[in-house]
Amino acid sequence: MTVISLREYVDESGSTEMGPLARFAAYLGRIVAAAQAYPAGPIIPSAIRCRRRPNRRRCPGYLDIVRLDIPREIRWECIECGDQGVIRDWHGTPWDLRLPQRPLPEEASFWLVVTEDELQALVALMPGMAPEGARMVAAALRTSEGLTLVGEVEAFMVVADAIRLALLDGVSRKTRQLLMGLLERLAMVVSDTDWI
Ligand SMILES: [Zn+2]
Repeated sequence: MTVISLREYVDESGSTEMGPLARFAAYLGRIVAAAQAYPAGPIIPSAIRCRRRPNRRRCPGYLDIVRLDIPREIRWECIECGDQGVIRDWHGTPWDLRLPQRPLPEEASFWLVVTEDELQALVALMPGMAPEGARMVAAALRTSEGLTLVGEVEAFMVVADAIRLALLDGVSRKTRQLLMGLLERLAMVVSDTDWI
C-alpha cells in the first residue's frame, strides 16, 4: 500500500507543466477534496476514476475513499483493481480546502447525473469556485444512475456561475460544447426555482 505525505508534493502544485508528478499530485488533491467534502468515518463511493493502467489499458474502476480522524488520514481503494493508498499531512497544503461537509447525499434536494468528461471539466473550474460549488464537484458520487452531483440550489448556482465565467473567458470548442450542455441541464434540475 502506498503511504503518501501530501506535504512532499507541495512544490509540484505550482508547476505549470503537467509532468507525471504534478498529475499525480492533482489526483491526490482530488482524493483529498472528496474526503474533505464528507464527515470522517463512512466510505465515500467517489466519482474519481482510478489512475492505474494495467496492461496499458486504463483501469475502469473508481475509488472508494474514507477519511479518518484518528489517525488523521485519508484512504483510497479502487473497486476494480484494488489499488490502495493512504494520504497524510494534507493540513496546511494547497489541497486543504476545508469544504462544507453537508448536505449528505440523502439530505440534498437536487441531483444531476454527469459524464466523466463533464465532471473533469468541472474539476478544472474548482480553483476560484465558491466553497458550496467546489464542495458539490468534489463530493460527486457513483450512484446507480452514474456519476452524480448532489447538492442544494446554491451549489448548483455557484457551479452554473463558474461555467458562465469560463465560457466568457474562452475555452476550447470541445469544452465549450460540453459546458453549454451541462449548463442547460443544471438549469433544468433547479427549474422549479427562480434562479434563471
Ligand atoms: Zn483501478
